[in-house]
Amino acid sequence: MRVAIGVDLGGGSLRSAVVREDGEVLRLLTTQTPRTGKDAVLAEIHKQVQSLQREWDVAHIGIGAPGMVSDSGYLHGHAVNISDWGEFDVAAELSALLGSPCVVRNDVAMAAFGESHFGAGRGADPVALIAIGTGIGAGVVVRGQPLSGRYGAAGEIGHLSLDPHGRLCRCGRHGCIEAYCSATGMIERAHELARREAGGLDGPLRRELLQGTYPALEAERIYRGVAEADALAMLVHQESCVALAHAVALLVVSVGAEVVVLGGGVMNASELILPALEQPLRALLPPELYERTRIQPGELGPQAGVIGSAAAAGTWTQGVKRVAEGSLK
Ligand SMILES: [Zn+2]
Repeated sequence: MRVAIGVDLGGGSLRSAVVREDGEVLRLLTTQTPRTGKDAVLAEIHKQVQSLQREWDVAHIGIGAPGMVSDSGYLHGHAVNISDWGEFDVAAELSALLGSPCVVRNDVAMAAFGESHFGAGRGADPVALIAIGTGIGAGVVVRGQPLSGRYGAAGEIGHLSLDPHGRLCRCGRHGCIEAYCSATGMIERAHELARREAGGLDGPLRRELLQGTYPALEAERIYRGVAEADALAMLVHQESCVALAHAVALLVVSVGAEVVVLGGGVMNASELILPALEQPLRALLPPELYERTRIQPGELGPQAGVIGSAAAAGTWTQGVKRVAEGSLK
């Protein structure tokens, strides 16, 4: 059985898995990403990989990490969702720590790689994936390889501003894609509109927000409102889909994506999101491109990252299982 180890480092969770060469996840470990900075994060990755290697004799490791990661595995700039995570050679440090050569790319690029090999992008080229969660990121796979760009900026669409006079983003600029269609952006926008607008937007969601029912509002509540035709929820949703349509169109015209895969937690509401993208996309793209654009929900779910990372590890190797499952503490 040929296997590799894939690691998916996100701002919220860290996942590591032993993955078979057909994309099947054989063993998955998940924990919360440490909040205390780079050294703690690297130590946690080391711990997970060691734990998997106690069960499986496998040396090849692929790692998806947040931020602008170049082909060589160097992180340019700083990722906002992990503290103290920037400007260092992630591949060199992890290879030294783990004692095995590590292939490191951006986390969304790895998820795109997974979907292009085993999921919604099978057989297509180029494949782009937009991950819609607490933030927005994209990954691109061209001719079977993840595309990074000289400074790892390929797919860094989250903080591309669509409107310099738009709403303030957490990056300090205005009108970013992420400020409208990430879960965080939508939630902030719902609170903002509830306070500012009355009349036409009044409804159950606005009243709940003003009463403070949702100190921790989730995107799911907004989509429940959309399903019930709540005016405030509908407006947040429509604005979000316009921003998302810009992201899709951008990938179609910049890399000529044959398929744009939409993944991430927000896509649990895909049956509401996909139809709402049609109109803004039709307005953005020339008809011959709009007709050819394929938009599909991801098929690998939250496992896309570990599967893609394992596939990018370089080589599938004959993995020997050392111990039976369940016999380890
Ligand atoms: Zn921004």
